[in-house]
Formats: sequence, structure tokens, C-alpha cells
Amino acid sequence: MKAPRATPKKTAHSRAGAGLSIVIPAYNEAYGLPGLHDRIAAVARKLHAERGLAVETVYIDDGSSDATFRVASDLPADGFDVQAVALSRNFGKEAALLAGLEHARYDAVMFMDADGQHPPELIETLVSRWLDDGYDVVYTAKVHRENEPWQYRFGVNWFYAMVNWGSKHKIPDDAGDFRLLSPRATQALKRLPERNRFLKGLSTWIGYRQIRVDYEPAARVHGKSSWSFWTLLLLSIEGLTSFSVAPLRVASLLGILLALGALLFGIEVLVETFLFGRDVPGYPSLVVGMMIIGGVQLVMIGVLGEYIGKMLSETKQRPAYFVAEHLTKTADHEKASPPESRAAE
Ligand code: UDP
Ligand code: MG
Repeated sequence: MKAPRATPKKTAHSRAGAGLSIVIPAYNEAYGLPGLHDRIAAVARKLHAERGLAVETVYIDDGSSDATFRVASDLPADGFDVQAVALSRNFGKEAALLAGLEHARYDAVMFMDADGQHPPELIETLVSRWLDDGYDVVYTAKVHRENEPWQYRFGVNWFYAMVNWGSKHKIPDDAGDFRLLSPRATQALKRLPERNRFLKGLSTWIGYRQIRVDYEPAARVHGKSSWSFWTLLLLSIEGLTSFSVAPLRVASLLGILLALGALLFGIEVLVETFLFGRDVPGYPSLVVGMMIIGGVQLVMIGVLGEYIGKMLSETKQRPAYFVAEHLTKTADHEKASPPESRAAE
């Protein structure tokens, strides 16, 4: 018997009582942080005034070489709390997101980028989907990818097709890391023990009530994306091998295809020799056959190695990151510090 679902209106207040931590991973984002913080602050104060929702921002400096941590530490806790956490080196965005999740002090968590591409003005919409409509995972997706090169779009489509192939928990196309998790979804995410993480996949996998919100991605405020072809390729391999055994299935399928091909070829050889008495030219067909089999085997050993490597790194159970510095500023509701009081940016 299914228990009847509580109506959103009844529980909205208790949900809001939980508070919201906004986790922002930042790698060399010193220049854009103050502007972003101001925009978040406006929304945070509104949420607090209108819904009584406590908000904090958690900036994770992912081993930046610029002044990101100093700038984050100087941001005013103007009406809401601010945490600044510096990791001991650059661990990558997924590790930074995990650090944010583990430092978040409120029950609900939101993840957003530090480069201004995730518009803070959308926070209200996400919060409304959570509090008013009772959704647990509110994820965002880009309405279009027209400003991205076709090769990139092709790669993205191919990636999702592979990850979702035969999987019961489909990761939505184009979903980004910009998302809000309700307290119970946050709890669930915290319970997933793996060190090699892929947030989009994990937060889909936990289930609960999920909803998509479309948005128009903004241009980066400054600098350029830290993803290169190779880092994207590595993340794709990470995502693929974390969430699907599709590459292993490809191996089995290829094996079956090759065996079938060999069988047909063998029958042809028999027919040619016995029925028509023709000699089958041996050398070229032998070399081609060997090269195909050798190539496929090497690729598939690589695929197996990918999974074994993942098992190795999980069994080592190394921490996903180390914290070098951590600062928490508590909200001062009385004192509104003017933007000029910030340290030089
Ligand atoms: N980021 C990070 N560690 C890294 C690379 C990126 O914390 O090693 C952060 C970065 O500061 C930004 C977010 O992850 O806030 C997204 O990065 P980016 O804008 O480079 O990626 P894109 O928007 O192109 O996917
Ligand atoms: Mg970006």
C-alpha cells in the first residue's frame, strides 16, 4: 500500500525551515566572484524576507592560482552566511562539488557555477519548484546549444546516448550541474560513498521527484572555460564507466559480430574449395583478419582496464580532496556592509 503523498502546501513551511546552502565551485574566478555574490545576495535576501528561508553560500576554491580564496573570504555576509573553503590543490570540479556538499550546513543544497553562466535570478524559480511544488531534484537544462560548436554538440549527444543505453535511470540530455536538491535528496546524495563522482548521474540515480527547468545560459563573465577536448573526453569516460556497462556490452557485441563474420568467411572458404576447387588467397585475408581481431582486442582490453582502474581507485579509498583553509562568516542582519568595504578585487 502506498502512503498518500502530503500536499506541498502543508509541508512547504517545514521544508523552508531547513534552509538552503548554495555551493559554488570556483577555479580562478577571482574577477567575477564579487559581481556574482551581489546578484546571489539580492536573491538570498528576498528569499529570506518572503519565505523565511535561511541561505548560505559555500565558495569552494579549487586550488586556484589567482586570488579566488582571498576574494571569497572578503565577500560580505550581508543578511546571509558565507563560507569560503580552499582546497589544498586543484582537484577538479566534481571533487569541489563534493567538498561543497560536505561543508553545506543547511539541509537543502544548490550547486551553481562561479562564472556567471548559471543565472542567480533562476534561484527563485528552483526554490519555488522545491517549496511550492514539492520536487526533490530541480535540475536545469540549456534551452539550446546554438552557441556551441557542432563537434561539441555531436559529442554531447553521443555521450548521453552511450550513458543511457540500456540504463534504467536515464540521465536527462543537456542537464547541467546547476540544480537544487531537497533535504532528503541531499541526504541521499551524501550517502553515496564513491570517490570518483559524476554529479549529474548521481543525482538522477537517487530518484525521488525530479523536475527539469530550462534556462538560457549566459556568456562567461570573464576568462575561458577550463574544459579542453581532453578534459571533456576524460569526464565522458568517467561518466560512462560510472553509470553504464555499455562499453563492456560493445565488447561482447563486437565479439559476437566478429565470430559471426569468421563463421561466414569459413563457410565461404569451404564452399570455394570443395565445390569450385578454387584456392582461397591466404596471406591478405589472414593479415586483415589478424589486424581486425588484434585491434578490437586492444581496444577492449583498454575498456576493461578503465573499469579495473576505477575499482583500484575506489578500493584505495583516498579522500577526494583536502581542505587547506576554511572560513565561515555569519550573517549580520543589522549591519549592511556597502560593496566599497570589500578588499581590492
Ligand atoms: N571549476 C572547478 N575546478 C576545475 C574546473 C572548473 O571548480 O578544475 C569550476 C569553475 O570555476 C566554474 C565551474 O567549475 O565555476 C564550471 O567550469 P567551466 O566554466 O570551466 O566549465 P563550463 O561552464 O565550460 O562547463
Ligand atoms: Mg562555465
